[in-house]
Amino acid sequence: MLARHHDPIVAIATAPGRGAVGIVRVSGKAIAPLVERLCGKALKPREASYLPFKAADGQAIDQGLALYFPAPHSYTGEDVLELQAHGGPVVLQLLLARCLEAAHTEADSGKPLLPGLRLAEPGEFTERAFLNDKIDLAQAEAIADLIDASTEAAARSASRSLTGVFSQEVHRLRDALVHLRMLVEATLDFPEEEIDFLQKADAYGQLDQLRATVQAVMQRTRQGALLREGIKVVIAGQPNAGKSSLLNALAGAELAIVTPIAGTTRDKVTQTIQIEGVPLHVIDTAGLRESSDEVERIGIARAWEEIAAADAVLFLHDLTRMAEPDYAEADRQIAATLLQQLPANVPVLQVWNKADALTPDEARRQSAEAATQFSTAAAAPAGDQAPLVLSAKTGDGLDSLRQQLLRIAGWQPAAEGTYIARARHVQALQQVEEHLDIAHAQLHVDSPALDLLAEELRLAQHALNAITGEFTSDDLLGVIFSSFCIGK
Ligand code: GDP
Repeated sequence: MLARHHDPIVAIATAPGRGAVGIVRVSGKAIAPLVERLCGKALKPREASYLPFKAADGQAIDQGLALYFPAPHSYTGEDVLELQAHGGPVVLQLLLARCLEAAHTEADSGKPLLPGLRLAEPGEFTERAFLNDKIDLAQAEAIADLIDASTEAAARSASRSLTGVFSQEVHRLRDALVHLRMLVEATLDFPEEEIDFLQKADAYGQLDQLRATVQAVMQRTRQGALLREGIKVVIAGQPNAGKSSLLNALAGAELAIVTPIAGTTRDKVTQTIQIEGVPLHVIDTAGLRESSDEVERIGIARAWEEIAAADAVLFLHDLTRMAEPDYAEADRQIAATLLQQLPANVPVLQVWNKADALTPDEARRQSAEAATQFSTAAAAPAGDQAPLVLSAKTGDGLDSLRQQLLRIAGWQPAAEGTYIARARHVQALQQVEEHLDIAHAQLHVDSPALDLLAEELRLAQHALNAITGEFTSDDLLGVIFSSFCIGK
């Protein structure tokens, strides 16, 4: 463990700005002398005391509540002091400075009262809670996710992860894995009867069961990661197809510039919209066409870069112009380029806009006709979906589009009990799955090499442990906790 994990730390725990209450929090080992100096008396554990907070010269800075949580019954697992004062930035700064000053003044022993007290780094209180086994790493991440949650669904899921729902699933997997490992490693010591032994102990069945459970946990974890991270959807199409109008209609605000002059969205505009709590980062791009205008050409090049990095592409057509041979031909070319440039797993959702400008019959006929042309030219939406015909202007058809977007994002509406997760967790589970696949293949050859099998199971367990943070590197901890706010 790094030396810095031993320093006592202090920070303002509440958000910057003014509020009714603001909190300064201290955490460290043996902070009782500091508590007494700051509060003028020893405090009863976990009881609120109303008292003046005094500066070194005895003048009151403020008065408020002080709470003392001796180790290990505190957020960090160390001694913690919380000073709840009035929530003004100057008051809190003064209180913070007072804590530092008091800690560094001499005690009767001639040594500083609380040597080494320093300002906390982002996430350092939570990092201590993790290092002192108050919570595991997935729970620590859930705390940040709860604070950052931008939808009710994300907040509820983060809260579930925080209470350990996700960690318990990981622990159950680990227990099953450990059981199987013990079996295989015990067998290694009795090479003559190894296969018989494994068969009798149903190692085959246990491994199959384990793989099925990993799959199920992975599915739920993907949903959790989707809730937290969302997907990136790029709207592509010719100038004037209505891309900006569609983004505005989805976002419900005037964001991108909508004008009847082709080529006005020269750079990208991103908006995060929420559909049933799932964040979708929708990007409106410059209209794709041949252009001699240098600025527009840069915009178009950027549009293709965005498309290449998309999780899904929404290809917008102007229904009122599909009968024009040049226009339809330009769309076909875009479709061909999309097909060529996009990886096979990136879905392209074709959308027919401006239905309001045609009669319903005409809109249906035009879109059906065009859809048959385009389903071969670009990846058609999975399943037998009717062409998505809509009007960005009136909003007709937007609900179906939202449902389609959720479908291609991989969201399952019945995902009740979802816990929040991160891409990191999904990747770890993928590694577990890969090791178990190799183990499975190993077990099913005529004379399995049990040492290789044991090694794969060990690696699988290692990947699993990374989720909850057993054996984590300081680098990974740095990455995770530095994204927290200060004072958390
Ligand atoms: P972009 O260049 O693809 O971003 O297209 P815009 O969103 O700027 O729209 C181009 C023109 O088409 C504007 O005059 C819009 O008002 C018009 N437009 C966009 N969507 C619709 C629609 O659903 N119906 C009709 N009638 N016009 C639309």
